Amino acid sequence: MSRRAASAVKTVGNAARDLLFPPRCVGCGDLLPPFVRRATVFCPLCRTAWESAVTEAADHAATDAGRGLIYLVHYRPGHADGIPEKLIYHLKHEGDPRAFSFVAERLAPRLLDTAATLPTRAPAGEDKPILFTYPPRRRSAVREDGFDQAQRLAKALAVACDGDFAPLIRRTHRKSKEQKTLTAEERAVNATSSYILADTAAEVVRDRTVVICDDLCTTGATLNRCAHLLVEAGARSVILCTVARTDSHGGGKD
Ligand SMILES: [Zn+2]
Repeated sequence: MSRRAASAVKTVGNAARDLLFPPRCVGCGDLLPPFVRRATVFCPLCRTAWESAVTEAADHAATDAGRGLIYLVHYRPGHADGIPEKLIYHLKHEGDPRAFSFVAERLAPRLLDTAATLPTRAPAGEDKPILFTYPPRRRSAVREDGFDQAQRLAKALAVACDGDFAPLIRRTHRKSKEQKTLTAEERAVNATSSYILADTAAEVVRDRTVVICDDLCTTGATLNRCAHLLVEAGARSVILCTVARTDSHGGGKD
């Protein structure tokens, strides 16, 4: 099927889905207008709240982007009613393709800007597309929700940035603890023993720019562990990309 035909089929499919399951605002639950081609997840009011959350996080996000971590908003644990927190919850538990496209379209320009500033670029025309990957969730969590949100995000970002997607990381078979129940130090130790390279990773990552995607960065233990593995395997540079970073600054200001 041609690209154009495939896109037409997708548009009809999306319209049918909107008719059967009218999309609702991730923030307040109000019905959204159907048949909107561009990914929308918020009503106008919640959209404004989202934009101010992005603006509020902008200074920290710019500093962190310089260190190779890209994200849009701060996440405040315990603020279940906040707009960023509701979107993270939605990404984790609903397999809503609109929501993944929504965040991917917003992360893509930041990612491409950062990738363009990386020091060691191949001669023009010899650069391979950016490679997107993710740290897999525990199998029990994937079973519960039916999908892995980090994998969905990595795939959506690969589409938005015209890059490649590859599962490069896998979990070890040992029973690892859930990161959110651990202290920062315990998280680092747990992450080191929980993730290893997939068998095919080494031949794929050599000299590539790799982006590791996840919904949330808290201590960074998981993402740093995965970055370490990929650099060891020969990746030229690694960028970490999440929708949100857990706010360690109280109200988001310090
Ligand atoms: Zn709303």
